[in-house]
Amino acid sequence: MKIFNKYLIYLLLFILIIIVLPAICTKKRNIRADKQKDTLNQESENKVEDISYDYSKYGKIKLLHKKSGQIEEISIDRYLYGVVSAEMPVNYELEALKAQAVAARTYTVYQISNNKGKHGDADICDDYTCCQAWISKEDRMKKWEENQRENNWNKIVKTVNSTAGQIMTYNNEVINAFFHSNSGGKTEIASNVWIGGKDLPYLQSVETSGEEGYTQYNSEVIISKNDLLEKLKKEYKDIKIDFNEKESIKILEYTESGRVKNVRFGNTEIAGIKVRSMLNLKSTNFSIRIENDNIIFTVIGYGHGVGMSQTGADSMAKQGKNYEEILKHFYTGIEITTI
Ligand SMILES: [Zn+2]
Repeated sequence: MKIFNKYLIYLLLFILIIIVLPAICTKKRNIRADKQKDTLNQESENKVEDISYDYSKYGKIKLLHKKSGQIEEISIDRYLYGVVSAEMPVNYELEALKAQAVAARTYTVYQISNNKGKHGDADICDDYTCCQAWISKEDRMKKWEENQRENNWNKIVKTVNSTAGQIMTYNNEVINAFFHSNSGGKTEIASNVWIGGKDLPYLQSVETSGEEGYTQYNSEVIISKNDLLEKLKKEYKDIKIDFNEKESIKILEYTESGRVKNVRFGNTEIAGIKVRSMLNLKSTNFSIRIENDNIIFTVIGYGHGVGMSQTGADSMAKQGKNYEEILKHFYTGIEITTI
């Protein structure tokens, strides 16, 4: 019996050493390998597409496609890939793109919270003249060189994902994060851009250097005296301009940021913002000169000038500023909050 027990113990030890232990070790290694695989999967997923960030009530948004009239339900960050890649050139600095991602997310949350009903059942639309520009991944990819598509898209995704959940607040409330292309060196306050526009403490006029290096900085509109008169007559029927008169066209007043507030065309006074929209000028920062039969509008900057300047953001990033510093420069007194 004792001998039998001894053999039984040897047998059990043999089984343990030869069969069970290697099996346990292999299993452990497999578990580790699986974990590694999971992490890798997660990393590559994070790198390329959706992240699993929980926004609770802002998780999904209803995006109205203006042209088709269709409403698409889409996760907020997936929507932001389309906004950032439509709003800012992908070759801009990473920190500028991140600032754009946070500004666009903030704008979106503000629309959802404050502009309910503007688009019926939808939260926001894809028309840049109304809400924010948006482009589908498919259309965006087509516009890039084939060998750059993958890298470009990954860069966009990275800017959105690395700022996941972040929005700008002022006094604990989401801000109305306006942005534009090029401020011409100085941003504008809202009441000078939108008639009846409310001035907000976080939208002050601020200066940025380096914007003159961008193509959006300078532009010119040349229009003949006759065409100008015809265009203005559409809205100002009694307008008369005697071009023989000295100062037949004169800028009367400037805003605090140096943009045109009022212009007198002959017998009629017209607001700078009206002149901009009627003549398709890129901004209200313009000068006027008459040369022979033509009126020449020389324009500085691009866009309404309120909030963040996109070229200004890129210029700041080139000077070594990060996205938080960029946002805090353009939006006075804000906090970056995670929702
Ligand atoms: Zn809209």
